[in-house]
Amino acid sequence: MSQKLVLASGNKGKLKEFGEVLAPLGFEVVAQSEYKVPEVDETGLTFIENALLKAREASRVSGQPAMADDSGIEVDALNGAPGIYSARFSGLGATDTENNAKLLADLKGLPQAARTARYWCVLVYLRHADDPTPIIAQGSWEGRVLEAPEGEGGFGYDPLFYIEALGCTAAALKPEEKNKYSHRGKATLDLVHQLTQRQAKTSI
Ligand code: IMP
Repeated sequence: MSQKLVLASGNKGKLKEFGEVLAPLGFEVVAQSEYKVPEVDETGLTFIENALLKAREASRVSGQPAMADDSGIEVDALNGAPGIYSARFSGLGATDTENNAKLLADLKGLPQAARTARYWCVLVYLRHADDPTPIIAQGSWEGRVLEAPEGEGGFGYDPLFYIEALGCTAAALKPEEKNKYSHRGKATLDLVHQLTQRQAKTSI
């Protein structure tokens, strides 16, 4: 029998992807909307804190194990900004185009070598709302911010995020390719690894 796992997100793509990856571990990933979990304010100062806030609320309201993700881009020349504020970099409700324009403006005139950045993704898994030992999985992806967008796919900062080793931006990658290299892909592997280890320990 499978164990329900509530995903603290309304994103259908994430629901499908986490559902596929976690089914072999015995989880049925369900949307938090099925339990009418309200949106929480992301008041943390780190990806981990924000993911924990979301997962804890989903678990508290649903009474089921829950998971949440939080991600963003960290730019070295901006002291780590936009970081946890990536989605709202140029203001609440900002579009990707507006956020990208602000990033380009903030980095204006900076040479290539000083435009280093990385995507981060944190995934948190809680067995229950008071779980004192959450699983925290993480993944990062190194790149640099171009001076103009390139590539048609992806979302968010992808058209500006150039990966030296691949010779293109994240927006030029097919979704399967992006998953192979991305912060989210790596964090997902880390989560699967940690869940598998815990399941092996607790079934002794
Ligand atoms: P969320 O954690 O999925 O809400 O993502 C937060 C924000 O980080 C997004 O709105 C994007 O601006 C940025 N971001 C996170 N992951 C990616 C990615 O894979 N590509 C481009 N932007 C991303």
